[in-house]
Amino acid sequence: MAGRRNDAPAIGIDLGTTYSCVAVWKHNRVEIITNDQGNRTTPSCVAFVESERIIGDGAKNQVAMNPANTIFDSKRLIGRRFSDSKVQEDIKLWPFKVIQGSDDTPKIVVTYKGEKKEFMAEEISSMILGKMKETAEAYLGKVVKDAVITVPAYFNDSQRQATKDAGTIAGLNVIRMINEPTAAAIAYGLDNESDIVGKVNVLVFDLGGGTFDVSIMTIEEGSVFEVKAVAGDTHLGGEDFDNRMVGHCVREFKRRWKHDLTGSQRALGRLRLACEKAKRTLSYTSVTSIDLDFLHEGIDFSMGFTRAKFEELNMDMFSKCIKTLDTCLSDAKMKKSCVDQVILVGGSTRIPEVQHMLQEFFDGRDLCKSVNPDEAVAYGAAIMASKVSGGSDKSVQDVVLHDVTPLSLGVDLKGRLFDVVIPRNTPIPASNSKNYITVCDNQSAITIEVYQGERSKSTDNHLLGKFRISGIPPAPIGVSKVMECFDIDANGILTVTASIISTGKTEKLIISNENGRLSKEEIEKMVNDAEKYKLKDQEFKKKAEAHNALDDCIYKMKNKIEEPSVKKSVYNEILQAIKKAIDETAKWLEDNQAASFAELHSKKAHLEFVCKPLF
Ligand code: AMP
Repeated sequence: MAGRRNDAPAIGIDLGTTYSCVAVWKHNRVEIITNDQGNRTTPSCVAFVESERIIGDGAKNQVAMNPANTIFDSKRLIGRRFSDSKVQEDIKLWPFKVIQGSDDTPKIVVTYKGEKKEFMAEEISSMILGKMKETAEAYLGKVVKDAVITVPAYFNDSQRQATKDAGTIAGLNVIRMINEPTAAAIAYGLDNESDIVGKVNVLVFDLGGGTFDVSIMTIEEGSVFEVKAVAGDTHLGGEDFDNRMVGHCVREFKRRWKHDLTGSQRALGRLRLACEKAKRTLSYTSVTSIDLDFLHEGIDFSMGFTRAKFEELNMDMFSKCIKTLDTCLSDAKMKKSCVDQVILVGGSTRIPEVQHMLQEFFDGRDLCKSVNPDEAVAYGAAIMASKVSGGSDKSVQDVVLHDVTPLSLGVDLKGRLFDVVIPRNTPIPASNSKNYITVCDNQSAITIEVYQGERSKSTDNHLLGKFRISGIPPAPIGVSKVMECFDIDANGILTVTASIISTGKTEKLIISNENGRLSKEEIEKMVNDAEKYKLKDQEFKKKAEAHNALDDCIYKMKNKIEEPSVKKSVYNEILQAIKKAIDETAKWLEDNQAASFAELHSKKAHLEFVCKPLF
């Protein structure tokens, strides 16, 4: 887009595991932008079919027909390694194929236009972000560049980096990444600005499709947000509840019909959709049923599902959510009685038992349901987008945000001991350094391994990367010192610098492929690929429209020729010639389904010309 003036406002995107939402600050308020289907949230789903790529509602609607090439849950893969136990668990249940790529990166395999294609999770997420960008552009009538993207508070550095990369691949300039519960609190704070007098303590309980976050923060005068502590699980949410229901149905099917459904991707795909729908119904009624005709081997499947059964299947996960509250409160050094407001965010907080357990934990206190659980995150992201991009509105400019780092960051010491440099829940941006000594005589280099997590053994944590600093002057053990400095920016992204104190030589952490981070070249390639896919989609759309236009034209002319006034006023020979031309065009269209846009366009122009005497 060189040379084109970009004056579109920055947008806020909630890139969810199951649904995404885009919003913008306009006319002194936040607008949630509806997509081309008129929906305020868009399924985070991408489908590859013979002729095109579909993103969002269209992709979700065809999942039962095309399970192996319909990708969802890319957020559960992003920034993770293939061998990660969570990835391995998910793979067993996904109807699409995931293989181990180089450096242990997971690769999603699909068939697109008759060819096998492999995609990284970042690419799939970038397609969803691209769709949200287009949605905003259609609404604003301008090219959107800048965006704030939200991530789960409990995402580690690799997952944040990978999400940022996905934004870049989608052609977005990610001006800030903020944590989802923080965004929701901003939405709550601004909506209740006049009611918030002084300081209030809020706890955001965010249970979405794939992730769970708890965040405790203080809000001062509705606009100063200070995160005190975060806790959560980046692999716990509505999808897991769906999986338990699917598992139960599979067992029931086997018990009744002695057939194993796990081999049939189509059956599993249909079952998953039906279970998700039943789960939603069970939030409002106590009994529902799952009815699927011809589910497998011609067998119709029908079973009742009670809310009690749903709760029993998922109780351990609900309890895990409640237990996390204790960790978060103790990290925030706060008693539960000090929490003034409990805010519910994420579609899964609609589950009555989750609300009940949460209310019980807070000794019967009312929960705040005034923020829309599906839109609050995008709402807050839009406010931050306006703030970061210099929006002039006072209520936006007054917003001040102090966030924390969710997990401890440190280095590996001798004996695989994890030495924390920046403890979890430290306010960000943050910086801290520590000096380390050599561990043998004349040691000339040190390899620095950077980990993130809470376990005392380094290798039980998440390896972010390693790098080497060499050129340490010869000296006895313990004499030479290397200073390791950790810097976390406002996005929660880390840079590590090491310097040899005696010489001043410095090295920076270049995150290696070990953690699955994309290189600059890889990102560039993916940006180009994304542009190619977009062009292909546009080409397909143009061709499909030309095809439909010719079809409509044939239909219109066929009707016109039958009108009595036409029959009366046009010579019979001419009518016969026109009829012949219409039939020939109809036959041509039937025989040439793969015709190009130019051919279709010229056929239509020709037919219109021949049919002129009819008008
Ligand atoms: P989010 O990521 O916040 O969009 O949440 C999406 C998750 O919320 C999906 O797993 C949905 O199945 C789930 N969800 C949405 N509505 C309900 C409902 N009424 N009851 C239970 N779960 C729901």
